[in-house]
Amino acid sequence: MNLGPRTKLRPEHLPGRRAVFLDRDGVINELVYHKDVGVVDSPFTPAQFRVLPRVPQAIRLMNDLGLIVVVVSNQPGIAKRHFDLATLREFDRKLRTSLRTAAARIDAIYYCLHHPEARVKALRQRCACRKPGIGMLTKAARELGLSLETSYMVGDGLTDIEAGNRAKCRTIFVGRWKCEHCQFIHPQTLRPTYVAKNLWEAAQLIRSDLRQASDVASQPSLKCATSVATL
Ligand SMILES: [Mg+2]
Ligand SMILES: [Zn+2]
Repeated sequence: MNLGPRTKLRPEHLPGRRAVFLDRDGVINELVYHKDVGVVDSPFTPAQFRVLPRVPQAIRLMNDLGLIVVVVSNQPGIAKRHFDLATLREFDRKLRTSLRTAAARIDAIYYCLHHPEARVKALRQRCACRKPGIGMLTKAARELGLSLETSYMVGDGLTDIEAGNRAKCRTIFVGRWKCEHCQFIHPQTLRPTYVAKNLWEAAQLIRSDLRQASDVASQPSLKCATSVATL
């Protein structure tokens, strides 16, 4: 290896940071039943944006575990004229206010605003960022110096799991019911690594997953310690 003066260790040669990618609707905030159109969808108004129980605590735990917390969310509501950009920013503001109750922090938020059948022409496109595309994850990895292989993707939709698996993350399906159908799901890209009832449970799964990983990593040094002790 040439370590002469012209050789620089560029950031991409350093190991990336570990992150948790979070889907938003159904994971962080409640889904909303829109009676007028008869669909369950994202909130359309600030009053409809309600953070789910123990989400600030779950995110605080992720912060304490040293993970970078990144929201990656498809939000075609502007494209479909359900709400505007100012409303989306208001959702963010409500979320950050709620996080303060647990001194929790979200490091970055990425939204895909596109939709292939958007009413707003500027947002009508088949993009690479709309999940199950992995554009938001790769962009975040680039901008924040993350390692996708050691990161987690948490979501309540199969598109979240598919995106996470395609990006080589570990994946956690969040749902109120046990994911019994997961074992029947083919192809492999749709199967989650873990299933959790909610984000709090997902955060705890991540904590034990990280502990297991560090136990494995620390085994050789334990052996050393033992041999020193028996000298
Ligand atoms: Mg969702
Ligand atoms: Zn997009």
